[in-house]
Amino acid sequence: MTELERKHDRTPVPKEWAYAPAPESRDVVSLDDRYGHFVGGTWLEPSETYTTISPASEEPLAEVGQATPEEVEAAVAAARDAFENGWSGISAAERAKYLFRIARILQERSREFAVLESLNGGKPIKESRDVDLPLAAAHFFYYAGWADKLEYAFPNRRPRPVGVAGQIIPWNFPLLMLSWKIAPALAAGNTVVLKPAETTPLSALLFADVLRQAELPPGVVNIVTGDGRTGAALVKSEGVDKIAFTGSTDVGKAIQRELAGTGKKLTLELGGKAANIIFDDAALDQAVEGIVNGIYFNQGHVCCAGSRLLVQESIYEPVIEKLKRRLTTLRVGDPLDKNTDVGAINSKQQLEKIRELVESGEQEGAEIYQPPCRLPEKGYWFAPTVFTNVAQSYRIAQEEIFGPVLSVLTFRTPEEAVEKANNTPYGLSAGVWTEKGSRILWMAAHLRAGVVWANTFNRFDPSSPFGGYKESGFGREGGRHGLEPYLQFASAEVKG
Ligand code: NDP
Repeated sequence: MTELERKHDRTPVPKEWAYAPAPESRDVVSLDDRYGHFVGGTWLEPSETYTTISPASEEPLAEVGQATPEEVEAAVAAARDAFENGWSGISAAERAKYLFRIARILQERSREFAVLESLNGGKPIKESRDVDLPLAAAHFFYYAGWADKLEYAFPNRRPRPVGVAGQIIPWNFPLLMLSWKIAPALAAGNTVVLKPAETTPLSALLFADVLRQAELPPGVVNIVTGDGRTGAALVKSEGVDKIAFTGSTDVGKAIQRELAGTGKKLTLELGGKAANIIFDDAALDQAVEGIVNGIYFNQGHVCCAGSRLLVQESIYEPVIEKLKRRLTTLRVGDPLDKNTDVGAINSKQQLEKIRELVESGEQEGAEIYQPPCRLPEKGYWFAPTVFTNVAQSYRIAQEEIFGPVLSVLTFRTPEEAVEKANNTPYGLSAGVWTEKGSRILWMAAHLRAGVVWANTFNRFDPSSPFGGYKESGFGREGGRHGLEPYLQFASAEVKG
């Protein structure tokens, strides 16, 4: 027997190389049985409630309020009172201090928030821990820095706050969207009424505790929970000076119609159908990672997801082969397991929408690929999916699926890539993979998208403005640009 054979004899080779479970503890989060609305610094007992659940297990987590129009009005009145009797009068440097405090507290409590975000929303803990939380804190830090520099940001324009901002956010990045909305609004001197999405209210409600810790004056931030009816009441409220909305294009259009002629300011961050474009000179392994990150990050519940893959014809086969191989290594399952790559679909309703669009893709003639994976029995799940043989006219190439579903198309020349990429009612983001800097610049100049990533995808930074063209909405969030919607200038009044 050789030395090597003897060694093998002593070290049993595991039959299975599966990952051991690595669950994050839930103990760090303590939930109340029931939550009210956070109005004027205290909890308002809700007249109606509903149950919010964990989409991974369908387990009920808490009862939360379904705010009526009267309750929304109480929140708007609290925000108005705080605006007129304090917040708009304090020095900008004081405002900055509160924002810094909020940022620091979010960092200190980041584990608690990350667990709650994954529990209520279904996203993998490694994403909420490494992306949502650091970015949310970074937004507050960033806008804290601007609060006392508005005169420099907008020289000779005498910036003033708008007043009360009504903010409506979706369920895909609950805390991050909250920070994108609240941080610039407060930095600019406004007060806020925020409505989180019906399915993911818990991190916003926990955020109320951060405001208490930061000793933010009562009424500066108010949080009302509920479904679309609560959002609609906030939009209609006469006491609101500005609406900031992130969500579907249909609801965005309805809000725009509602506000037409009222003189209220409006910014809309809506859907997308981004093209991720791979040229034949790209580093293919990196590009495949970028494709995976572009569409399977957060289960594809990302408005700027790279949901249309455009591959140059000459490298189609190796790209698809590498992509399929990579998909077999994605781990779908418990969002609180640190090894999970793809978590739960956010709601039953969203799962049904994904299924319906995927069925339409198969019926229209596209070829479907899903890696072998066992999905949990309880909860809402969808396996990572790739469609090849996709024609531009198919619904899966046109409509926002908002799930882990990629549609692959091909192109031959840069001009054809641009034409296909721009052939969508949306215009939020795009990705370009090539080693040629000149081609990146040419593509970026011709792609009709608010953000164009080069040799990367889904990168965010608070200093970088984000927003869309066409049916992806208008207005920018992030950066100095993100302050502008929350300000009025000496020459322009908000209400006519
Ligand atoms: P919505 O646009 O309905 O939701 C976004 C937010 O608006 C939520 O807080 C929602 O409340 C609220 N809302 C709903 N109706 C109204 C209304 N009439 N007036 C004011 N506010 C309202 O998106 P859905 O959650 O229904 O998702 C549907 C589709 O939208 C998804 O499949 C996806 O394609 C797209 N979407 C895009 C997002 C993006 O970031 N671009 C984000 C979310 C969804 P409630 O949660 O109670 O419905």
